[in-house]
Amino acid sequence: MTLPGAPRSTEAAEFWNALGGGDGTLLRQECVQCGRSRLPRTAMCPYCGGWESHWRPVTGPARLVTFTVIRRAPSPEWAAHAPYGVAIVEVAPGCRVLVNTDWLPEHADLGRPVVVAVETGDGGPRLVASRGGDEAVSQ
Ligand SMILES: [Zn+2]
Repeated sequence: MTLPGAPRSTEAAEFWNALGGGDGTLLRQECVQCGRSRLPRTAMCPYCGGWESHWRPVTGPARLVTFTVIRRAPSPEWAAHAPYGVAIVEVAPGCRVLVNTDWLPEHADLGRPVVVAVETGDGGPRLVASRGGDEAVSQ
């Protein structure tokens, strides 16, 4: 059964095209005025109020910020996968993304390095975090 992809906004088309367009690149939004990064995408920079930004590849380490374990699937597509982990991962300072995890996270995992990968399927690209070593880098 095809897993549904994340809802996509047209304002973040460049983000989604890079993520699911074959190269599986995770992008962050970088403010032209102050140079700070942010995710999820916003029209205005929350740090300086600037309105211009560029998309840049994420290259730094990622870490688990918070998580939940889904024990009762919200739809039939996910039923075969339950229980499964859903987490917020910081992929760069100011940049957090929602991911599935390939393990069931525990409280002891908070702050741990993770590796974020892009999985593509019929429903579109999904971000999946794996437990990484100290050198965890987002791809
Ligand atoms: Zn700014």
